[in-house]
Amino acid sequence: MSLLAVCGLETFYGASQALFGVDLDVAEGEVVALMGRNGMGKTTTIRSVLGLTPARGGTVRFAGRDTTAMSPHRIARLGIGLVPEGRRCFPNLTVTENLVAAARPGRWTLGGIERLFPRLAERRGQMARTLSGGEQQMLAIGRALMTNPRLVILDEATEGLAPVIRKDIWAVIRTLKGEGQSILIVDKTLAELLPSADRCFVLEKGRTVWSGRPEALTPELQDRHLGV
Ligand code: ATP
Repeated sequence: MSLLAVCGLETFYGASQALFGVDLDVAEGEVVALMGRNGMGKTTTIRSVLGLTPARGGTVRFAGRDTTAMSPHRIARLGIGLVPEGRRCFPNLTVTENLVAAARPGRWTLGGIERLFPRLAERRGQMARTLSGGEQQMLAIGRALMTNPRLVILDEATEGLAPVIRKDIWAVIRTLKGEGQSILIVDKTLAELLPSADRCFVLEKGRTVWSGRPEALTPELQDRHLGV
C-alpha cells in the first residue's frame, strides 16, 4: 500500500487553475523525485499534499487516511515533515532551539541530527539567521527530521547552494534512503537526483505526463519534458 497516494489533483489559486490532474504515489521506504520545468506545478502539488492550498478536485491519501480536506496541522501530525523552498527556520532562535522546537518522539533526537550534520553541532549556540545558506538548509532538514515524520518532503533540496554543500546534502539524502526513510524530493540537479530516486514523476502544465524508474527517463524524454 502507498504511504502517499495523490490522484487526479486539481488545485486553484483563486480563479486560476494550477493543477489539472496530478497523480503520484510514494511507497513506504521509497525515494520519489517530483520533476518538471519551472512553473509546472511541483510546489503547488506539495502545498496541496500538505493542505496549505487544498485541492478542489482529486484526492490525497496519506498513511491510510483521506487527507484531501484536512487542515495542514492535522496532516503534519500524521507524519509529514516539510523542508520548504527557501529553508525557513526561526531566525532569532539558536540552532539547538530550532531543532528542539520541532521535536516529536521517535528515532531522531538532537544527538542524531548533530551526528548527521556535524556542522550544526559546531554551531549549536548560533542564531539561525547568522548561518550560511547551506547550514540553514541542513537546519531545515534537521527540523523536518526532528518531527520523526513517516514522509519527508524536500522542495528544491539544493537550490542556490555551493557545490561542496550540495555534495553534503546529497550524501545525507542517500544516508536517509539507506535507513528506509520515505522521501518526496524536488530538485533540478538531475545528475544527483536520478541516482538517488527509486521512481520519478514528471509534471507538465499541472499534469503528470510521465512516471517511471529513473533509468527509463532517457535523454530524449529529459529533453522533451525537462528541457535538459
Ligand atoms: P518552480 O520550479 O518555478 O518552483 P513549480 O513547478 O513548483 O515551479 P508552481 O510554483 O507550483 O510550479 O506553479 C504552478 C503554477 O501556479 C504556475 O503557473 C504559477 O504561476 C502558478 N502559481 C504558483 N503560485 C501561485 C500563487 N500564489 N498565486 C497564483 N498563481 C500561482
